[in-house]
Amino acid sequence: MIPIANRPIPLLPEVESFVKRPQRLFIANTFVEPASGQMIPTENPATGDVLAHIPAGDKEDIDRAVAAARRAFEGDWRAMSPTQRAACMFKLADLIEAHAEEFAQLESLDVGKTITSARAIDVPFTVYLWRYYAGWATKLYGKTLDLSLAPSDTFFSYVRREPVGVVGCIIPWNYPLAQVSFKIAPALAAGCTTVVKPAEQASLTNLRLAELIVEAGFPPGVVNIVTGLGETAGAALAEHPDVNKISFTGSTAVGKLIMQAAGRSNLKRLTLELGGKSPTIVFADASLEEAIPTAATAIFNNSGQVCNAGSRLYVQRNVFDRVVEGVADYANRLQIGVGLDERTQLGPLVTHEQKARVLSYMKQGLQDGARVVIGGPDLLQDIPGNFVHPTIFVNTTPEMSIVREEIFGPVLVAMPFDDPDEIASVANQTHYGLAATIFTRDISLAHRLAARLNAGAIWINCFGVFDPNLPFGGFKQSGMGREFSQEGIEAFTELKAVTVKL
Ligand code: ADP
Repeated sequence: MIPIANRPIPLLPEVESFVKRPQRLFIANTFVEPASGQMIPTENPATGDVLAHIPAGDKEDIDRAVAAARRAFEGDWRAMSPTQRAACMFKLADLIEAHAEEFAQLESLDVGKTITSARAIDVPFTVYLWRYYAGWATKLYGKTLDLSLAPSDTFFSYVRREPVGVVGCIIPWNYPLAQVSFKIAPALAAGCTTVVKPAEQASLTNLRLAELIVEAGFPPGVVNIVTGLGETAGAALAEHPDVNKISFTGSTAVGKLIMQAAGRSNLKRLTLELGGKSPTIVFADASLEEAIPTAATAIFNNSGQVCNAGSRLYVQRNVFDRVVEGVADYANRLQIGVGLDERTQLGPLVTHEQKARVLSYMKQGLQDGARVVIGGPDLLQDIPGNFVHPTIFVNTTPEMSIVREEIFGPVLVAMPFDDPDEIASVANQTHYGLAATIFTRDISLAHRLAARLNAGAIWINCFGVFDPNLPFGGFKQSGMGREFSQEGIEAFTELKAVTVKL
């Protein structure tokens, strides 16, 4: 029997009471019942018990929220100067920081993730991001230009950058507080207003954020939050004729549905951050002391529930066994346990459905003839909660589903390669293109490979370096558009060319 860390820290009283409180939708700065009167139970990933109930918002609630967002967009939010808007955003960042432990506990409880990573990553990154985009609120500008077909003293032309309008933000469950911030912070900085549809599996930190939004002084309607199911509340937002843009993070399949809904309704703008099957490529000359733990972290962090997880490991053949053994050893030493135990390094998956999905991929891999180095579908299945053991497969072929499809769990496929000139095309054999990681001491080789890999983020001798100032997003079916950085805020604007005859 594998020992599970199961001594959760005592919860803060405010976390205890928030989880027990009846949850409401957040529309125009007030907390309201859903039109349906229905609630959705959510699961405690560590135990499988019911954790809370969230309102089942539907089309009627989305309509109310969009109307509130439209009023704020035409009214109070537009009437404020960028400095005033930035002040609300800085205030919100301060409030999140002041409640950092509360958010970390709530996120760990709701998602199952480790409290140490919620404290070290989810919450501080969220605070940095709010401050970063609060700074941008006062730094967006258009430009003046000369026409190419007329003498420069005959026309005066300028290009204005205007907020796109009401933005629908559809959020995944893996980093709920951070992900909602990735969307609403740049949208608000650009002058837009928002309707958020959190993930039904993990909505609690989004709802807690709503209370701080009121406290930070945002006018009613600037941020609205409608919890509920994807196929009802989410779909209603994607179809809504008065929503100007959807910013979505989630699966490629749902990204395609949202794109169809945008096409059917009003051709709303889209930023889509979708799935991945990102390669980690280790050359024989690399520092294996660095490559091995990094390759392990790349897949096992957040129990593999990360869109840019390094889920395919390619290792040059003469060091293949060493690297695979090293990653397996690392994985075997990871302390598995409930997220709220400070010793835990690998928490449970978010829901029992997600666990079933990951286990079925493992079983399919075995049936297809892959060999398990460590882990597999049978371990940890005698305990409650959504635990799966970190798992590494070898002896795979490119056709296997475990090699081709996004599993979104702690499952790694490892493959040897011989020819450095062929590894780019092998790594590119996927319809995804989110990230890629390269380990080598040959920096010219690394740059040549970086240019040839079809992915939006390339990490050389490191992994998962995120920064609010670095654009992030996917090639191919990993998405369209970029989050973070100047590109991330400009994605919430329209350009308007104004020409005056002089
Ligand atoms: P995952 O597979 O990680 O759960 P999904 O793509 O299913 O990711 O979900 C991401 C977000 O998209 C969630 O907030 C979910 O409710 C929402 N969603 C799911 N289906 C739809 C849909 N048809 N239209 C709009 N949003 C949806």
